[in-house]
Amino acid sequence: MTDLLRLAREIGFTDAAPLNIAAIDLKPEVRQMCADNLCGQYGKRWSCPPGCGELDVLRQKLNLYSKGILVQTTGQLEDSFDAEGMMAAEKLHKAHLAALHEFLLPQYPRLRTVGAGCCKICKTCTYPDAPCRFPDKQVVSMEAYGMLVSEVCRQNGLPYHHGPATVTYTGCFLLE
Ligand code: SF4
Repeated sequence: MTDLLRLAREIGFTDAAPLNIAAIDLKPEVRQMCADNLCGQYGKRWSCPPGCGELDVLRQKLNLYSKGILVQTTGQLEDSFDAEGMMAAEKLHKAHLAALHEFLLPQYPRLRTVGAGCCKICKTCTYPDAPCRFPDKQVVSMEAYGMLVSEVCRQNGLPYHHGPATVTYTGCFLLE
């Protein structure tokens, strides 16, 4: 596990910790935030509700794993309205997730990457007309799983906030 956490930091994540998968509570109220559709992606991608599955189905998927890691990318902002800085940090986080996914996949063939925001692997998602083009690479967000990110961070010993003028994106890898 120590090697995995070091590898995550070498790839560029700001922080990483072992993930207690059994302790994760999937909450209907978090999924309701997806249904409120402030991001505009509800019902648009396989990675997002309802296409990613109901909570009981996602719980069954989580139960297939007993080992995982939680990862974070923290970006510095000029101020709390620095939208460009936030987007840059999100882009960096997605790049870190993709890089570590590629690195881990040969060792963990059942690897699942859980990210922040919707899956943007394809410019246009096939939902709902055809199956996902890359089901093994598809990134479902922690929120789409019904995870309350601040709670998962607290449970696993990582801060949710990293101080003023910063933004932090969190994700996890379900390994085996
Ligand atoms: S991999 Fe492509 S088709 Fe699959 S969820 Fe992501 S964007 Fe949609």
